[in-house]
Amino acid sequence: MKSKLFSMFPILVLVMGLCFGSTPAHAAKIRVVTTLTDLADFTRAVGGDLVEVNSLATGVEDTHGVPMKPSFVPMMNRADLLVLIGFDCEHAFLPALIEASKNPRIQENKPGHVDCSKGIVPRDVPKSTDHSEGDVHPYGNPHYTLDPVLAKTAIANIHKALVTFAPQHKAEFTRNRDAYLAKLNAKIAEWEKALKPLRGTKFVSYHEHWAYFAARFGLNYFETIELKPGVDPTARHIQELITAMKNEHVPVVVREPQFPEKAPKRIAEKTGATMITLPIMPGGMPNTETYIKMMDYIVHSFVAAAQTQK
Ligand SMILES: [Zn+2]
Repeated sequence: MKSKLFSMFPILVLVMGLCFGSTPAHAAKIRVVTTLTDLADFTRAVGGDLVEVNSLATGVEDTHGVPMKPSFVPMMNRADLLVLIGFDCEHAFLPALIEASKNPRIQENKPGHVDCSKGIVPRDVPKSTDHSEGDVHPYGNPHYTLDPVLAKTAIANIHKALVTFAPQHKAEFTRNRDAYLAKLNAKIAEWEKALKPLRGTKFVSYHEHWAYFAARFGLNYFETIELKPGVDPTARHIQELITAMKNEHVPVVVREPQFPEKAPKRIAEKTGATMITLPIMPGGMPNTETYIKMMDYIVHSFVAAAQTQK
């Protein structure tokens, strides 16, 4: 009996080797789920080969209403970290998913619950934090990542969470982050230069996505087509907007592809403004699959629209 066990020993070692030997590289990956694609891009940049990142959104969705897929719950159940925008941006879909995931690591107030808004001072904070009127910005405007300088705060929060989860890889995360920030900083200088001649240029958009972007680059965010965030425009609001835009010579209408084209198109036609369609997350339009490519697209679209108006 004893000798039989001994003779089996090399086979057992081999089987165990097959079971476990091939897994460490894969198993060692930190599993991250992000709500939006910009956060996924930042997490891949900082985490490099050490992370496996899945985003709930693909880039084309409304950031306030990513439609549920059956894959979300098991994906979130396995996640080591959940990376989100915060300010209740994801209120309509995320709390229910976190609960359904039954994953203790990503529940609110756990280290795996990574709120990237930590350190951001929100703009346009309403007086009440009430969702009942359809307001999707109850704690202020959550679209801060469209300002590439504030995006660095999200990147810092992601770096911190990865280091907390896997401190043994701190040096690698920091190296990756610094390399990405160097690239981003060079791009920010390029974008500031490109948009400098457009300082004070007025524009409207469908949803209030562009408050931080406009503040960063000195553009004049005139109004939104929506009555307020998450509330469809009335015919009267659109008429008043057209009159005000004509009086004030507003040259640019931004349309986000998440929303119907009809109103922005009509407003552009009636006022003589140029309509541009802009992504709000990487992957929202062709050739915008990374954050930097998306910002390039946004900046160049504004520049081209302003030139059309000259
Ligand atoms: Zn919003």
